Amino acid sequence: MILSVKEIADTIGCRSASYRMISTLLTDSRSLCIPDETLFFALRTNVNDGHRYVAELYRRGVRAFVVESVPEIMGDVADAEFLVVENALAALQRLASYVRSMVDIPVVGITGSRGKTVVKELVYAALMKAGRKVVRSPRSWNSQIGVPLSVWRLEQDTEIAIFEAGIDHCGQMEILKDIIRPTIGVMTEITDEHDGGFDSREQKIAEKRRLLEKCDTVIEGSDNMTVAGRILEALGESASLLGGVAEVSTRLDVHDGVNDCLMIYDEFTADFASLVGALDFMQRRKTASRRNTVILGDLLHREGEDTGKLYGKVSSLLQMAGVDRLIGIGEEISRHFGEFDPLMASEFMATTDDFLEKYNISHFDSELILIKGGARMHFDDIRRRLETPRHQSILEVNLDAVVANFNTYRSLLRPQTGIVAMVKASGYGTGALELAKTLQSQGAAYLAVAVVEEGVALRRGGITMPIILLNPVTTNYQALFAYGLEPAVFSVRELEMLVEEAARYGRRNYPVHIKFDTGMHRLGFIDNEIDDLLKLLHSTDRVRVSSAFSHLATADCLDEDEYTESQFAAFERMTGALAMGLDYGFKRHILNTAGIMRYPERQYDMVRLGIGLYGISPLPSAATALSLKPVARLNSTIISLKKWPSETTIGYSRRGVLDKESVIATVPIGYADGIDRHLGCGNARFVVNGHPCPTVGNICMDLCMIDVTGANAEIGDNVEIFGLDAPIEVLAETLGTIPYEVLASVSPRIHRIYYRE
Ligand SMILES: *Cc1c(COP(=O)(O)O)cnc(C)c1O
Repeated sequence: MILSVKEIADTIGCRSASYRMISTLLTDSRSLCIPDETLFFALRTNVNDGHRYVAELYRRGVRAFVVESVPEIMGDVADAEFLVVENALAALQRLASYVRSMVDIPVVGITGSRGKTVVKELVYAALMKAGRKVVRSPRSWNSQIGVPLSVWRLEQDTEIAIFEAGIDHCGQMEILKDIIRPTIGVMTEITDEHDGGFDSREQKIAEKRRLLEKCDTVIEGSDNMTVAGRILEALGESASLLGGVAEVSTRLDVHDGVNDCLMIYDEFTADFASLVGALDFMQRRKTASRRNTVILGDLLHREGEDTGKLYGKVSSLLQMAGVDRLIGIGEEISRHFGEFDPLMASEFMATTDDFLEKYNISHFDSELILIKGGARMHFDDIRRRLETPRHQSILEVNLDAVVANFNTYRSLLRPQTGIVAMVKASGYGTGALELAKTLQSQGAAYLAVAVVEEGVALRRGGITMPIILLNPVTTNYQALFAYGLEPAVFSVRELEMLVEEAARYGRRNYPVHIKFDTGMHRLGFIDNEIDDLLKLLHSTDRVRVSSAFSHLATADCLDEDEYTESQFAAFERMTGALAMGLDYGFKRHILNTAGIMRYPERQYDMVRLGIGLYGISPLPSAATALSLKPVARLNSTIISLKKWPSETTIGYSRRGVLDKESVIATVPIGYADGIDRHLGCGNARFVVNGHPCPTVGNICMDLCMIDVTGANAEIGDNVEIFGLDAPIEVLAETLGTIPYEVLASVSPRIHRIYYRE
């Protein structure tokens, strides 16, 4: 939609005489694209506040803002419009509702736990084939913010709209329903996702069902194709349009590439709107050391659309996104090569095979590469060509699950409580950098790592948010200060050293985090050391206490509540003494994951979330009703298969003895990869094609053998060590340890890949 500031002001109850035309609503400053047509909504969310970004956006050319109060900006801002409202999110929603009322067309509203995005994309692709002008939510923008932004995309000549509505709490659907006002209501499969935000499953279903209340047509079902077909029929189109339309994958992967390249591989529907989203994702991974390359296939478009104009728009979009190099693949994009800016390096070819013939890894060096093409273009061949040689064993990390778990815990906390996300020990084994990027954009208050090197790696990877260093017996103070890492300090001796070094490097008020020992008896100040601590703090302005914290020893032990309470009491006493002695305030935090679940009333100013982020509950399952999502999945593959007669022995020391004819598979993962030898000889089962297959014989250094009799196994089949079908908790139990250890033991030589759904 394009509206004047004046009309928008009228809609949200403000005054303005400005006829500046607004084409883009912005809620995340990092996505800024066309400053002078942008209206920025300064939203206050749980831990972030859009008002912080107003000054910066003004500098970057934005001239229209919806704010709850006008921030003090230096200099003259007379040329900017500030629409002051009580609640910026409510204003955004009101505006969307107004935009919705401007069109009288069929609107499809889709809710459910699973399949929403796939159904939406199926219907969208089919309607494009039929030449209809369709607007839809980009990717899965289905939240209280995403839905209004999606609805804003409606235009005067839109013929059909398709919006997703996702909720995780009671009361949210009422708002989304009034914005979407669907004429066709769709409910896909319901699972236990987000149960945590509702009193019961029934309540959640009832809440979702509100979307369907005033619809002319209601469609329910769990088979994506069938549901999509019925939507098309309700729209007066034929379900046969779905012939040849593939279910889109909603995955967006980030892979390490050859020659220090980083690749973003996007399998989502390849049309203009989703290219905008993919470039935005790319924008956030840019670093100075890499050039920006896009490998782009023919775009999906409306039957009959002017494709010259379309690729002209693509060209300006790529320029705005700072893309240095374009490789266009497909007949259409090649035909329109003339539309692309001659200043951008560009090459065109008709097919993916042409690319594979012409290009090898030597053509790419230190580039951030976005690979985006339709499902039928086989761009996964390109990805395979460019990625670093794959090991057959991979730790897959689901970044969406990290986000979901983060939000699950956030929902247990007061909105103003900060979350310190624990990414120490390489993100509990999953890899710290991608996690850190994800948590940075989710609005975590701090990241915490164990050692300087981990902190430095995050800074070098582009992490700008505050980082706490937990075990700073530091020798490298230069790196500590240079990279702005905030040490936790547990003794007067350490603090003295820090003060001395801060003086040497000319630092004042350097933030430190004071660690108290309230019962772990590991590290930290105890009562009789507080006087010395205060004396030292008073004698210098080199450091400043940013927070004081302690760590619980027994938060996960259901029968040790008394001990935990004694730690809380000690924490109150010690932080009280510190507060009495200082003439400024500081933050306090003591809860880890188990603590958040069991003692939310002790959340103070911040909490430290570790294992829960990774989808693992530290409490026995009966003690938790949270639906956490597994983040890490360790997979390998079958590389050899043999049928052996009964009595055959398998592996070192002949420890595996077959008691019947068996099919034995060899899997390239062993104890050097983190597979504990105690998992051999049938003590663990790895899952192949849904069948749990016991280990046979001893685990070797780089290999192990499993019995796949009856599992219809073939060479190349996936073997899940832990993840979805084989819970990591079971492996931990077998080993008599905790899931933390199993996850953190996955060796660095196992390749990690990260994806979003
Ligand atoms: C690791 C760690 C945490 C997180 O613990 P979880 O049980 O994983 O939530 C919190 N605080 C400190 C000091 C830690 O070292």
